[in-house]
Amino acid sequence: LVELQGVRKSFGNVEVLRGVSFSVDDGSVVCIIGPSGSGKSTILRCINGLTRIDGGSIRVDDIAVESLKTDRELVPLRHEVAMVFQQYNLFPHRTVLQNLTMAPIQVLGENPAEVTERAHALLAKVRLTGKESAYPGQLSGGQQQRVAIARALAMRPRVILFDEVTAALDPEMVSEVLGVIRDLAQEGMTCILVTHEMRFAQEVADRVFFTDKGVIVEEGPADTFFKQPRDPRLKDFLDKVL
Ligand code: ATP
Ligand code: MG
Repeated sequence: LVELQGVRKSFGNVEVLRGVSFSVDDGSVVCIIGPSGSGKSTILRCINGLTRIDGGSIRVDDIAVESLKTDRELVPLRHEVAMVFQQYNLFPHRTVLQNLTMAPIQVLGENPAEVTERAHALLAKVRLTGKESAYPGQLSGGQQQRVAIARALAMRPRVILFDEVTAALDPEMVSEVLGVIRDLAQEGMTCILVTHEMRFAQEVADRVFFTDKGVIVEEGPADTFFKQPRDPRLKDFLDKVL
């Protein structure tokens, strides 16, 4: 379970989250949509402790995220929550396999042989068997993003946060990445996705949230959310993007 209650965050004197509350059940898929600058990435960064909140609370299972202060205190959260970014952030001088195995071995202290075996299975899952020894620079954008997803999965998280992971990709590579996310969703992985892919959101999300100026203005099940938007700000947004 991921639960936010009254989460507030300011940068300088600009309040970018002004009381965000929601909960995400285990195994469900939530999409967050909204205009640029409305706080979507900040919400994800707060959930995995990359950004500290000023007020409210965030629970990930029994972890109180706002109480974690040091890198060491953040380790259990890193175990639970993985994040995948628009810019893949792979280690360029490490092979694909090493990109997957480094953090589980070095951060979580897991057995290298077991981690390596798991990494091979994960590469098969994201349809990249045979690329173990490649370097990120030798792969297409879509392939690199699938490595990034496999790397997130290598930590065996209970929740994965995706921040516009297809936004930087050429159109023909978008579907291969969305396909991998769709598989994860169907397997029951808890997913929170910020996305501009409205059709994908409609298809895979259990619920959709619309953010505007640091608050969640509307939320609902994917089918009614897109077909019967109520708030004028959401109607206006959907008119522009659909
Ligand atoms: P986009 O769709 O463009 O990615 P977003 O909804 O993800 O937008 P955020 O990245 O969460 O928006 O940013 C919300 C607001 O907070 C923006 O006005 C942004 O400029 C500001 N902001 C985000 N991070 C920082 C930071 N580290 N320092 C200062 N301001 C920040
Ligand atoms: Mg963003």
